[in-house]
Amino acid sequence: MQDFSDSVAATPLRIGVAGLGNVGATLVRILQKDGVELTKKLGRQIVVTAVAARSRSRDRGIDIAGLEWFDDPVALAKSDGIDLFVELIGGEDGPAFAAVKAALEMGRPVVTANKALLAKHGVALARMAEESGAQLGFEAAVAGGIPVIKTLREGLGSARIARVYGIMNGTCNYILTRMGQEDISFAECLKDAQALGYAEADPSFDVDGFDTAHKLSILATLCFGYEIAPDKIHVEGISKITQADIKVAADLGYKIKLLGMAQRYEDGIEQRVHPTFVPKGSAVAGVDGVMNAVALETDHVHELLLAGPGAGGPPTASSVLSDILDIARGTRVPPLGVPSQELLPYKQAPLRAHDGGFYIRLNAKDVPGALAAIAARMGERGISIESVIQRPDLHVKANAADGQPTRTVVLLTQQTLETTVRESLAQIAADGFIVGEPQLIRIELL
Ligand code: NAP
Repeated sequence: MQDFSDSVAATPLRIGVAGLGNVGATLVRILQKDGVELTKKLGRQIVVTAVAARSRSRDRGIDIAGLEWFDDPVALAKSDGIDLFVELIGGEDGPAFAAVKAALEMGRPVVTANKALLAKHGVALARMAEESGAQLGFEAAVAGGIPVIKTLREGLGSARIARVYGIMNGTCNYILTRMGQEDISFAECLKDAQALGYAEADPSFDVDGFDTAHKLSILATLCFGYEIAPDKIHVEGISKITQADIKVAADLGYKIKLLGMAQRYEDGIEQRVHPTFVPKGSAVAGVDGVMNAVALETDHVHELLLAGPGAGGPPTASSVLSDILDIARGTRVPPLGVPSQELLPYKQAPLRAHDGGFYIRLNAKDVPGALAAIAARMGERGISIESVIQRPDLHVKANAADGQPTRTVVLLTQQTLETTVRESLAQIAADGFIVGEPQLIRIELL
């Protein structure tokens, strides 16, 4: 275990940074620029002494001349020249996992921003840290610059959390916000997001909801004390959202947001990621563009909303830095909020009726009786339809194989089970009254 007692307070804390990309280079720049101020705050100097990346010659806008260079992040993690290892490479396995594991096994504290690594190996890494007495900080792994991990581990350490939900992916929030402000398609918004550097060249991990799912799984563990279970999440992305959906939502007093939501029930945990109708007056509806927000509902503090920048070099590096300061001060908390041997095996809650009802958009064949037949099929399964909307401006073009024209129909249901709605839609499709895949979006009464 590394010694952070008073006797070493006078000696500098030597940091090794693996990964000098967007976040890593920003962190080194901040530490080099604000070193004196940080030293005053901490009563101890923090210095970057060694770094690792793939290309030594690449210009990163930082001065690495006096720093020890490593091609191999594992060798850096084990080096005698550092006291704390920072992993900013990314990826759930590979060099990131190998280096973090190597540091923790020898009792060396680690700070990482890597949600994929945490979602896959978080429990094992927490166990390694506890066994060797090392600290493991990952504030930047969830919602970038928002201090949600610290809030859960420390500020709300004694609270019983009932539900956590939020907007945890800036790319998706940017796209949905733009679609709500301008009459443009998902594909056009995505192209702009890529041009502005808000979306990766391969955006699927973000827009298909998996990035949000990783973050949600980490938050759910900190909230409810169950093992991290990223593969037990119902995940839907935003790529099928159309202007018709956005317009109906707006007319009915909602916005569409990609929400990650985890809730504790008596019989287990429910975790979901999907586009959601949220009331315009709700706190998350006001979180637009690349901003993120996490809402925590507890038994005693009714609801807490933390909002701020969810990504980008400076906000993310600032969260990494806050973990470094905590470790330098000697703060010790179990990485996942409770000792890892106390974590419960993940238990998925059985499906239950959804209070807010559902928005359903479908392309019905424009033939007499189609709508009545659709309503009858829903009635057979006990689904109550609250309203039916048909407007020419909502028409989404669909090509029926038999050449029949179609009409876009929107149905809003009352409280019901999602599986019941899906079974009913499958039956309606089999009847031949609709063309293409229906759009199904949850309405949350936040
Ligand atoms: P990035 O810009 O792609 O940088 C990755 C860095 O890792 C690069 O410097 C790269 O070296 C280095 N690297 C890759 N493979 C390596 C290897 N085998 N050995 C040594 N170095 C290697 O990534 P980033 O955006 O900074 O993200 C870093 C981490 O922060 C990720 O886990 C990410 O999920 C997390 N994060 C990022 C943000 C954000 O806004 N960017 C927000 C929250 C969390 P070269 O430069 O030489 O290629």
